[in-house]
Amino acid sequence: MEHCQDCGKKYNTVYTVPDDVWEKITPEEGEDGFLCIECADKRAYNIGVVFFWCVSEINRINDKNVKNNAKIMEEMELEIEQLKKLIQVN
Ligand SMILES: [Zn+2]
Repeated sequence: MEHCQDCGKKYNTVYTVPDDVWEKITPEEGEDGFLCIECADKRAYNIGVVFFWCVSEINRINDKNVKNNAKIMEEMELEIEQLKKLIQVN
């Protein structure tokens, strides 16, 4: 799982972008950087490129893992909400 450098969200999707396009949208120099699909799409759109996504399955996560991940995400979101409240109080 990676963290998007634009929105900070975690994402699972593994995707490829042609090198010449990636160089124009990457948040870092050269070939580095991590972007979720939505943010990559936004950055591409802003430079006049429309992405065509073709999805294929490379890894099936079993139901137990999916439930665990969903629980972890829920807990993280709760923590974030609590942190936001703390910031507002101060
Ligand atoms: Zn993002």
